[in-house]
Amino acid sequence: MADEKHVPLLGHRAVVTGAGRGIGRCIALALADAGADVGVTARSEAELEQVVSEIEARGRRGLAVACDVTDSQQVQTMATTLLSGLNSIDILINNAGNAGSHKFLNHPDELWHRMLAINLTSVYYVCKAFVPTLVEQRQGRIITIASIASRVGERYIAAYTASKHGVLGLTRALAAEMLPYNVTVNAICPGYVDTPMTDQSVQNIIARTGMTQEKARAALENTSPQHRLIKPEEVAAMAVYLSLDISKGITGQAINIDGGGLMS
Ligand code: NDP
Repeated sequence: MADEKHVPLLGHRAVVTGAGRGIGRCIALALADAGADVGVTARSEAELEQVVSEIEARGRRGLAVACDVTDSQQVQTMATTLLSGLNSIDILINNAGNAGSHKFLNHPDELWHRMLAINLTSVYYVCKAFVPTLVEQRQGRIITIASIASRVGERYIAAYTASKHGVLGLTRALAAEMLPYNVTVNAICPGYVDTPMTDQSVQNIIARTGMTQEKARAALENTSPQHRLIKPEEVAAMAVYLSLDISKGITGQAINIDGGGLMS
């Protein structure tokens, strides 16, 4: 029989958005390692199917539903399918997101709206779709992958920063409203993490500055006092911790994982 200490989330069911690669994939696998069945969603079906097979290889149930989380109708259909396929859920990880950068002078409106849609409005849609179930069960965990850009301002990323500050506001407001229902709501705020999204940021730096690959990557590593990128596993471990019963006293919090760049 499985040792509960090693699978503390046995019997729990989670949904992870943006789970096809990067941080989301890593969280989905860490939740499965901890014993949970996991529903995964993103737009690329092939990546989701790969993650489902990795979840199943861990002896857990995996279920994939393709969905663009910026579309409220698709989110509703995705939630209905996962809630029925997994027979309810009690852990929701809002991870899907995207970064874009531009100087504020001549900032494209399209970038502003795209950043708010994928990093903020999508979290609103996804929470709205799953919160009634968590409230009804009087049990739940909502964990949003925000960013260190939720806590500080930085040049060239006005839209991303505004969207990530917004998602922290949503986290705190929802945490207050969920207090009577035994549902905690928290955010994790990483610095640069070693994922395909950061690979893209490196390419953008190279395109704009002509830096070498090595120098562009070092520029991002050096934004951390530890001079390194955070590993997706570090973010995933915190998401698992916040999903455990023992973490029930933690709600409305924003937890930085940024190598000590921001100490508050
Ligand atoms: P990746 O680009 O590596 O992965 C993003 C995931 O989100 C993919 O599975 C992608 O799948 C999915 N996704 C993107 N857009 C949509 C959409 N419209 N609908 C559904 N799914 C979508 O990103 P990371 O793993 O690096 O980032 C994950 C989260 O962590 C984001 O919210 C990001 O802002 C945050 N973060 C990342 C940091 C970093 O340095 N990497 C630092 C701080 C925070 P698909 O394209 O198939 O839809």
